Amino acid sequence: MTNKLKYFIGNWKMFGDLGSFKIVAKINRFANKFHTYNNKFKIILCVPSTLVYFFKFKIKLKHIFIGGQNCHFNQTYGPFTGHVNASMLKKTGAEYVILGHSENRADGETNKLIKKKIKSSIDQNLKVIFCIGESFKEKKNGKTFSVLRKQMRESVEKRFNLNKIIFAYEPVWSIGTNRIPKKEQLEKIIEFIKKEYKRNFRSKYYPRVLYGGSVNNNNIRIFSKISNLDGFLIGGASQSSKKFIDIIKNYYK
Ligand code: PEP
Repeated sequence: MTNKLKYFIGNWKMFGDLGSFKIVAKINRFANKFHTYNNKFKIILCVPSTLVYFFKFKIKLKHIFIGGQNCHFNQTYGPFTGHVNASMLKKTGAEYVILGHSENRADGETNKLIKKKIKSSIDQNLKVIFCIGESFKEKKNGKTFSVLRKQMRESVEKRFNLNKIIFAYEPVWSIGTNRIPKKEQLEKIIEFIKKEYKRNFRSKYYPRVLYGGSVNNNNIRIFSKISNLDGFLIGGASQSSKKFIDIIKNYYK
């Protein structure tokens, strides 16, 4: 049920400018050094669209992959002021895109809209980091599993190239709050997502499922004991090279 390769994905959110290349350069040096004797993890940095090209092509990235953080569903150019589509992200150098993040759901993104974005991104050969997760109220009302099931079923279809989707379980109440789920609780939820995926999409394989929400260099030791987790989506802490690198180092301690 677990994939050996672990993902450490940074979600920079609305952070960064050209000077932030220093952060990427440091993570890049770390990735190059460790890659030679540790082929166990993959680093992806999902940065604002304004920085994708710069990071991808101005720094020689061998072992770091660059992603965007959202995209418009429309496949071609169109009258959508302020937006970029999956094709534009891809041509700029992105290989991944985060979709369904709760910060965008809070702005009105529905499961139906996210589905169009997932389809469009896969068609453009981007890999999708698809965020799902319940709010605090839903958790309190015992709705976690039904919310996750609905988010998966309403945004993903069996006919999609499912290999291109990585799930990120991000409980809304945990994002940027320093609150994390209990180990046993998280284990159960990850198992649920994997089984639900296999059952619903009649897949032979379990999907990759990451956890995201207040991951830092201390609590990563708790997460490292959860064997069915395939990695992490890291927000605030990924904006510092030291914090991000320490998370990876401490995971393997
Ligand atoms: C996120 O925004 O995807 C996230 C996980 O944020 P944080 O790590 O800051 O909680």
